[in-house]
Amino acid sequence: MASQWVSGMSINSQQSYDVIVVGAGAMGSAAAYHLAGDGQRVLLLEQFATGHTRGSSHGGSRIIRYTHDKADYMRLMPPLFDLWRQLEAESGQPLLQMTGGLYMGPADEPFLCGAQEALATLRHSYQVFAPGELADAFPQFCLPAGWLALYQAHSGILAASRCVETLVRQAVKRGATLREQTQVQQITPMGDGVRVQAAGPAGHETFSAARLIITAGPWAPRLLALLQLTPPLKVTHQQVAYFAVDQPDLYAVGRCPLYIFTALPHYYGFPIFEKPGHVKIGLEMVDTVVDPDAPREADPAAVDELSAAVAQTMVGVQPRPAQVDLCLYTETPTHDFLIDRHPEHPQIAIGCGFSGRGFKFAIGFGRLLADLATSPPGSYASEFWLPRFALTQFLAG
Ligand SMILES: Cc1cc2nc3c(=O)[nH]c(=O)nc-3n(C[C@H](O)[C@H](O)[C@H](O)COP(=O)(O)OP(=O)(O)OC[C@H]3O[C@@H](n4cnc5c(N)ncnc54)[C@H](O)[C@@H]3O)c2cc1C
Repeated sequence: MASQWVSGMSINSQQSYDVIVVGAGAMGSAAAYHLAGDGQRVLLLEQFATGHTRGSSHGGSRIIRYTHDKADYMRLMPPLFDLWRQLEAESGQPLLQMTGGLYMGPADEPFLCGAQEALATLRHSYQVFAPGELADAFPQFCLPAGWLALYQAHSGILAASRCVETLVRQAVKRGATLREQTQVQQITPMGDGVRVQAAGPAGHETFSAARLIITAGPWAPRLLALLQLTPPLKVTHQQVAYFAVDQPDLYAVGRCPLYIFTALPHYYGFPIFEKPGHVKIGLEMVDTVVDPDAPREADPAAVDELSAAVAQTMVGVQPRPAQVDLCLYTETPTHDFLIDRHPEHPQIAIGCGFSGRGFKFAIGFGRLLADLATSPPGSYASEFWLPRFALTQFLAG
C-alpha cells in the first residue's frame, strides 16, 4: 500500500527513515520485505545476528495448514500459501513443502469439531477416519477408541530459518537497511514520528522515522513497557525433539503427512524433513514461564511426557529422542495474535503474541503491519486484518 501520509514527513538526516522495524524474526523481516517493496525507506534493527536461535523463528520446519477451528483464520490461508509461493519464485529458494495434514483427537474435541464446521463452511475438502480405518491409509498412527483423524490436503512445511533468511535478503535487495547486533533501548514518540536509541557495534546511536513497527517476539513486553503498554503476554519455554524411526520410508514426505494430536498432551510433528532418519515432534508446554535472556536447558519431565505419548500413538518410532532443541512462545490469554497500533501513538504499530501458530501467517502479517504503519490512524484496510487482533481485545481482559 503506497503511503502519502508517510511521505508527507520531512526526512533529511542519514539516520532517518520512513519506517523502523524492531526485530528481524519472521514478523519483522516480513514487514521490512513488504515495506521495502512499497518503496519505503526501511531500517530493520536486530539485537542479535539474523538467524539466531534465541527467539521463536529458528529451526528447519513450521506447519502451515488451512485447518483451523475458526473460519476467519481459515479464510486467511489461501492468500498466505500464494505469498509464500511468490517469495519462492522471486528468491529461487525452496520454502514450502506440501505434505497433507492429519489432525487427531477425541471425536467431540472442540478443535476438531470447529475445524470440520469451518472446512465445510468454506468448502474445503477433507476426510474423516475412525481408528479402525486409519491403518490402511496412515499406518504410522494408532488411535484410542473414540478418537478420529481428520485429513486435509492443504497442509505443508515451511523451512522456517530459510524463510526468515530469504525475507531478510529480499528486503535488503529491495532497498531496506539491516543493522544486526543492534539493540533498541529507548523509544520516544516525537510529534507524528518517533526517535529510537540503540546500542550496537558502533556504540550508541539514535535513529528517527515517521513510523515504527515493534516485532520483538518474547522481548515485546519489555519494549512495550517503555511505551506504557502492558498487554497480558506470557513468554514460555518450548522444546522440540528428534526421534529416530525404524522404517524411514514409512515416515518419508509423500507417505507421511504432518500430524497434530489436539487432545492432551497436545503435540505435533513432521515427516522426515530436516534430519535424515528422524521425525521432529514437539509437545506444547503451557506453564513454563521464563525470562527470554535467562539460560535454559531441556526439561527432562517434558521429554518423558512426549516420549510416553509418542509410544502410545505412533508406530516404529524409537522411544527416546536423539536431540532436543529449545524455542520460546509469546502468548496472549486467548491465543489470538495482537496486531494493532499504539492507542496514544498511532505512528507505532505492534505485532506480538504469535505463540506456537504465528509462523505460517508471517508473510501476511508483515503485509498487515506494513499497512498499519503506512495508512492513516483508524484505517484497518488490509487483506490480513481481523478484528480479533485489536489491542482492545486484550486490554479489556
Ligand atoms: C517450538 C516452536 C514451534 C512452532 N511451530 C509452529 C508451527 O508449526 N507453525 C506456525 O505457524 N508457527 C509455529 N511456531 C510459532 C512461530 O514460530 C512464531 O509465532 C514466530 O516465529 C514468531 O515470530 P516473531 O518475529 O514474533 O518473534 P521472534 O522470532 O522471536 O523475533 C523477534 C526478534 O526481535 C528481536 N528483538 C527483540 N528485542 C529487540 C530489541 N530491543 N532490539 C532489537 N531487536 C530485538 C529478537 O532478537 C528477535 O530476533 C512455533 C514456535 C516455536 C517456538
